[in-house]
Amino acid sequence: MERIFNFSAGPSMLPIDVLKRASAEMLCYEDSGCSVMEMSHRSPVYEKIITDAERLLREVMQIPQNYKVLFLQGGASTQFSAVPLNLLSGSGKADYILSGQFSTKAYQEAQKYGDIVAVASSKDANFSFVPKTDRNSFRSDADYVHICFNNTIYGTKFNYIPDTGDIPLVADMSSCILSEPFDVSKFGVIYAGAQKNMAPAGLTVVIIREDLLGKAKAQTPSMLDYKLMADNGSMYNTPPCYCIYIAKLVYEWILGLGGLEEMKKRNEKKANLLYGYLDSQSYYLAPVAKDCRSLMNVTFVTGNADLDKKFAKEAEQNGLINLKGHRSVGGMRASIYNAMPYEGVEKLLSFMEEFAKNNSKAL
Ligand SMILES: *Cc1c(COP(=O)(O)O)cnc(C)c1O
Repeated sequence: MERIFNFSAGPSMLPIDVLKRASAEMLCYEDSGCSVMEMSHRSPVYEKIITDAERLLREVMQIPQNYKVLFLQGGASTQFSAVPLNLLSGSGKADYILSGQFSTKAYQEAQKYGDIVAVASSKDANFSFVPKTDRNSFRSDADYVHICFNNTIYGTKFNYIPDTGDIPLVADMSSCILSEPFDVSKFGVIYAGAQKNMAPAGLTVVIIREDLLGKAKAQTPSMLDYKLMADNGSMYNTPPCYCIYIAKLVYEWILGLGGLEEMKKRNEKKANLLYGYLDSQSYYLAPVAKDCRSLMNVTFVTGNADLDKKFAKEAEQNGLINLKGHRSVGGMRASIYNAMPYEGVEKLLSFMEEFAKNNSKAL
């Protein structure tokens, strides 16, 4: 069977070159005599894999020297607890910007640990835009400000980096990490589940400024303690070995293409193709504010739930899978992460045109 174009929000496509390389190295990695899945995480051969992974990620994202890179487990959702446990050590206050479902979940989880305020929200507009903030939006003694940079479900992203002054900015970048360059120095913590743009599910990357380490609340579970993890080189326990290996291959793939500037160009070309079409016609509606459109998750609706359903079903018959929108918003969502080829988006566009022609909305 031929490979199909998978528009899933996650787990999502991995670059074909990465899959081929992993496949070639599956039974026997270099001269280790076994697969990466089978080797000791303390062995020199694995030690090199995880060290290379960190070095390559630092190179790809140009992570400054005063930041630690952690390879953890538990998904981005575990960070919803880890962030407050590790950072609510001053005033015990944190400010959250609510721009979608994941930032709302993070906000709700943090309530368990301190004085948490939603300082801005677009909930009343069904999260169709990202709220604007300025320095005065935040409590001056907050321990941190939390945002979700790209809203996977609604298809929006921050078109600015909030100015929080001296307050550390924490960003969930699960669905936009590695999609374009980000100035890491503007953030106190960046975290991301790997299964959108980096590796298989099971790995979570945390990038944290060193001065924020070592402030965890006393009751913080060891597994969630950033300093303990940093001091142990992400090997306090067995790390998600194979996921880290795939992530390493993905970082090499990005560098081979020319890095994040080139990745951004490719992603913009794909997104512009879809948004350009959506803006040129009236059959489909793109429900989010133009200046907040996501580069990774493109949402659209026909305005008719039955037609939306038919669209997803027929797309699947045409080798374009997982285009159904999230259950909480309906409609369609095309997730076009780094590994989605331009060709896949072209094919989706032809299908959209064909579907609009064949399925009149008139009675
Ligand atoms: C997918 C996603 C999550 C949830 O990630 P898990 O790894 O399933 O916990 C959180 N935040 C964002 C922005 C996501 O896209």
